[in-house]
Amino acid sequence: MTNHVSSKLLYELSSACSQTECEVCESVECASWETRPSNFMAKNYEILGTCQFDGSENIWDEYHPQQTTIWSNKAPIALKHYPYNRADVLRCAHCQKVYLTYTEFGGYYVDQRIRLVNPDLIVLEE
Ligand SMILES: [Zn+2]
Repeated sequence: MTNHVSSKLLYELSSACSQTECEVCESVECASWETRPSNFMAKNYEILGTCQFDGSENIWDEYHPQQTTIWSNKAPIALKHYPYNRADVLRCAHCQKVYLTYTEFGGYYVDQRIRLVNPDLIVLEE
């Protein structure tokens, strides 16, 4: 059973990193959701838990009170909403930066996406 990560815990985890330069993460540019780069090395990241909860796979609503889109750098990180409600929480073992990752299942493709967690964008909710 994977640990469930609440918005509060995600805030604490992502606020803990003060390092900005990281040789492991430097190829992962993902202020907004991006496809994981081909050189993404999963072994450099620790899985801290998941934001999924009972029934979350049926929730497709996005949260954009400021007219952002899913691809925006400023899109809120709202764990009750899509796609955050599918995401697992990763932490770089080297610099402690925290990322969310989820798998998009399209009709003819599977896309593994990743986004850096900016604590200022997290919607604190229970
Ligand atoms: Zn790193």
